[in-house]
Amino acid sequence: MIPNQQNIKSEIKLDASLDFIFETVELGVLIENLNRQVEFANTLFCKLFQISLTPQELKSSSFLDNASVFSLNFEDPIRFEKSIIETPQSQSIVRNEKWKLQNGKTVLRDYIPIFNGNDLTGHIWLYREYKPIAKIQPTENFGSIIEKALNQLPSEIAIFNVHQQFVYANKAYVNSNEKRLWAIGKTLVQYFSYANLPVQTALYRVENINNCIVQKKAISWEELNISLAKNKQYYLRTCYPVFGEDGQVESVIEQSIDISQQRKLELELKAATEHFFSTLDSVNDIVIQTDGELKLQFINKAWENISGQRLEVYQGKSIFDVLSITRYELYGKIFAILSGEAKEKTGLLLLKGKDGKEKQLQYNLQSSFNVDTNKQGILATLTDITKQQLQETQLLELVKREKELNELKTAFVNMVSHELRTPLTVISSSAEILDLMLMAGKGHDEVSIYTKQIIDEVEKMTAFMQDLLMVSKIEAGKIEMNPKEIDVVNFLSKIINNGFNPWKDGRKTELIVKRNPKNVAIDDSMLQHTIQNLLQNAFKYSSGKDNVKVRVAFSNSHYTISIIDDGIGIPANEIEKLFTSFFRATNTGNISGTGIGLIVAKYFTEQHKGFISVKSRINKGSIFTIKLPYKQ
Ligand code: ADP
Repeated sequence: MIPNQQNIKSEIKLDASLDFIFETVELGVLIENLNRQVEFANTLFCKLFQISLTPQELKSSSFLDNASVFSLNFEDPIRFEKSIIETPQSQSIVRNEKWKLQNGKTVLRDYIPIFNGNDLTGHIWLYREYKPIAKIQPTENFGSIIEKALNQLPSEIAIFNVHQQFVYANKAYVNSNEKRLWAIGKTLVQYFSYANLPVQTALYRVENINNCIVQKKAISWEELNISLAKNKQYYLRTCYPVFGEDGQVESVIEQSIDISQQRKLELELKAATEHFFSTLDSVNDIVIQTDGELKLQFINKAWENISGQRLEVYQGKSIFDVLSITRYELYGKIFAILSGEAKEKTGLLLLKGKDGKEKQLQYNLQSSFNVDTNKQGILATLTDITKQQLQETQLLELVKREKELNELKTAFVNMVSHELRTPLTVISSSAEILDLMLMAGKGHDEVSIYTKQIIDEVEKMTAFMQDLLMVSKIEAGKIEMNPKEIDVVNFLSKIINNGFNPWKDGRKTELIVKRNPKNVAIDDSMLQHTIQNLLQNAFKYSSGKDNVKVRVAFSNSHYTISIIDDGIGIPANEIEKLFTSFFRATNTGNISGTGIGLIVAKYFTEQHKGFISVKSRINKGSIFTIKLPYKQ
C-alpha cells in the first residue's frame, strides 16, 4: 500500500555525527522525506552530478523539482526521471542499478526505502561510481604496472567471478586485445566457442573452478595440449580462491605454468632410468641396491640367472637375506662403508646355483646415495668367479702336472740309465773276460760262468724293456680286458710254483686260503702279471728273511689276495707316493728296480674294479693287498 504522502510527517532526523559519516563514505548520498524534499545530500553526491549548489543549499529543496535539471546528467534523462518517480513506489530495496552518465561514466544506484515500523518515512538514494574489476581491463594505455607485469608473464592468469565469468585475463591466457575485451563478463565455455578452442577443455577447467569455489581451496590439475606441430605442451593449472570479508569465495584466480620442459626432463629421466635398469639386467654380474635401512630396492636379472631364485621372493627382504656372509662380517663391512671409514669392501661368498652346484662369487660393497630416501644405501656387485676359479685350478693342475712330468722325466732318465748301465757294464766286462779266456784256450766249463752272466743280464734288460712296453701300452689304452672264469686258488698255486717256490735264494712261498674259495671271472694274464710283480718285490725287498706268504680270503661280495713279507718295509712318509711312476723308496739301497711294477699292478687291479693297498713298517715287513669284487 502506498502511504498518503500529505498526511505523513517526515520522521527523518539526521544528527551532525551521521552527517559526518555520510561525508566520509565513498558514496553519493541523497535522503528524501516522504514529501520528496531533500533531507540530506553529501558533497560527493553534488560532485558526482556536478550540481552547482552546496549540500546545505540543496537541503529542503524539492527533489522532484530539481529532477529535470538533475536528469540532464544522465545519458537517458527521460528514463532517469521516470525511475525516480517509479522506483520508490515498490517500497523495496533496489540495488546496483546501472546508470550511464553524459560524461561517459557509469554510476550504480541503490534505492532504500526508510521505514518506521511498517510506515514508509523516506527514501535513500546511494550513488557510486561504477568501477568494475573489469576496470582493470587491459587497454593499450592502461598504465598499471601490475597489469603490464601480468601481461608479460609467460603463465596464463585469469580471474573469474563466482558466476565463473571472466573478470580478467592476461595476454598469455587470451592473446588478442579484441578477444580479451570480448571475453570479460563471458564464461569460459562462451569464450572457448568464440575463440574456436576445444570446449571439452573449457568444461574441465569450469569443473575445477567450481570445485575451488565449493571446496574453498586451491585446486590443481594437469592439462596436456597438443599443438598443430604435434608438440606436447604440459601445463600445471591451479585455481586459487579469493575470499571476501564474509569468508565466502568472491572470485577465483586461475593460473597455469608450462611444465613441458620439466615433463620432458622427467620423461627423459624415466627413459634413462629404464634404460639403465634394462642395461643392468643384461649384465652378467649381480647388482643389488639397498635403501638406508638395508632393505633391498633393486636386484637385476643376473641374480635369477645365477641362483635360479625368482626376484619376487626378495620383495621387502634385506641384504642379509641375499648375501650368504655371516651377519657379523657383513655388518662390519657395511658399517665401515657407511661410516666413511672404507670406500669399498670386497670378499668371496658361496651361492647355490640353479644347477644345484655351489658357485663362488666375488662381492664388492660400496655406498650408494638414494635420491628417494635421501639416505646412503649399499650397492653390491657380485661376480661369478666359479669358472675363473676352475680355470685357475685347472691351470695350477697343469703346472703341477708339468712339474711332475719333468720330475718323472728326470726319474725315468736316471732309472733307465742306471738299469741299463749296470747290466751293460756286466755284459761288457764278461765279454772282455770271455775274450781273454778264449784266447788263452780255456774250455767251456771255465767260460760258462761268464756266458751265464751275460744271459742273465740280457734277461733282466728284456724284462725291463717289457715293463716299459707295458706302461706305454697302458698309457695308449691299448690293453684290452679278456675276463674268463678261473679257480683263484689253483691260479695262485700255478704262479707260486712257477719261480716262487722256491725263489732264487731257496726261500719258499706259503699259500694260505681263508673261507670258501669261489670261481671268479678275471683277465688271468693281467692278474698273473700283478701277483708275479708283488711276489718278486716281496722276495726282492726281504732278502735273508723268512718265507713269503700269499693269503687269499673269500668274503660275501669280494675276495682279497695279500702278499706278505717281513723285509725292509717302506718309510711311512713315502707310502702315499707309491703307485706313481718310477717312484722308488729311499731305503731301497742297491736293490735294483724301476718303479714301474706297482703302477702296472694298480692299473690292472682297477681294470677289475678292484683296489690295491699297502701296510708297511720299516724293517718289519710289508703287506700288499688287492681287493677284488666278484661282480665286474
Ligand atoms: P721296483 O722295480 O723299484 O721294485 P715297483 O713299482 O715294483 O718298482 O715298486 C716301487 C717301490 O716300492 C720300490 O722301489 C720299493 O721302494 C717299494 N716296494 C715295493 N714292494 C716292496 C716291498 N715288498 N717291500 C719294501 N718296499 C717295496
